Amino acid sequence: MNHNDKRTTRVEALQKLAAAPLAIGALAALQAQADAAATMDQKAAAYQDKPKGSAKCEGCSLFIPAKSNPMKANGACKLVKGSISPNGWCKFYSPKAK
Ligand code: SF4
Repeated sequence: MNHNDKRTTRVEALQKLAAAPLAIGALAALQAQADAAATMDQKAAAYQDKPKGSAKCEGCSLFIPAKSNPMKANGACKLVKGSISPNGWCKFYSPKAK
């Protein structure tokens, strides 16, 4: 490794460090976009964090599952704001097409 190789490595490392906040910012922007798209307050939607009979968010066409552990982690909703449990329910429940 000559002097120039070391310098290139440092430059690359600095570029990666500079890009990390951008990636985190992009994730935050995606969450903000999801929140911005959702327009209904949980209270107005009569959202509850438990199912209503067999109807629950994970079976709703408006549910957006979490990327990590989609069967258990809270996700989002295209209509209702905030963190949405896959086991939740609201009055706008719309079952997925089978
Ligand atoms: S049941 Fe309500 S809160 Fe749950 S995903 Fe469907 S519309 Fe959203």
